[in-house]
Amino acid sequence: MLYIISTPIGNLGDISQRAIDSLRAADLIVAEDTRRTINLLKHLGIGKKRMTSFDRHSERRKTPYILAELKEGKNIALVSDSGTPGINDPGEYLVKEAVAAGIAVSPVPGPSAIISALVCSGLLTGKFTFYGFAPKKEGEKRRFLEEMNGRKETKIFYESPYRIEKTIKLIAELIPESRICIARELTKMHEEFIRGTAKEVFARIKDKNLKGEMVIVLE
Ligand code: SAM
Repeated sequence: MLYIISTPIGNLGDISQRAIDSLRAADLIVAEDTRRTINLLKHLGIGKKRMTSFDRHSERRKTPYILAELKEGKNIALVSDSGTPGINDPGEYLVKEAVAAGIAVSPVPGPSAIISALVCSGLLTGKFTFYGFAPKKEGEKRRFLEEMNGRKETKIFYESPYRIEKTIKLIAELIPESRICIARELTKMHEEFIRGTAKEVFARIKDKNLKGEMVIVLE
């Protein structure tokens, strides 16, 4: 069985009992960054485990070997550095191949920055679209935002602290009166939600050099 295990996005208290039990019981842990996962295992009091790294550079090369182990009946746990594997983290390809090979895949659900940001945004949660990371280049980002703007449901995407100010400025130019929310450092000590119209939010973050991890939610 291939277990897709969510891990904390900041607060280590968010690990679930099932995640701990599944990590402890796994024959092999497939981790985005083994050093990060070793630290998590130490924190959880889980002793040495068989482990292999699995990132976007190695996923295609390593998938056949992981599938072979699964076919032998091994229990394999997939984890990323934080949150839910497969959501802008390695996992999509391995799961696609496992499903195609008839291997059972099971979730051990838990934290994900998208859902945490959405449910606290104060915007409609009934229907939403997730867009991954915003493009880096300004022209592409403008087209990305314009395309999004044509849609009625709530929109969610990730943005880097290095580009947040420019992105919010663009949103404020395109849709100044639309409500938005920046969800920053979720579950961490400096967790913050900056809510308001795009124009108001831009005025609040301008020249503030906002840091940390963030998710943007758009009305
Ligand atoms: N798989 C992860 C998940 O399920 O949340 C997302 C991985 S993606 C590579 C990392 C991005 O998620 C960050 O750049 C940031 O935009 C967002 N993110 C992750 N943790 C966050 C947090 N604690 N607060 C706000 N955003 C976060």
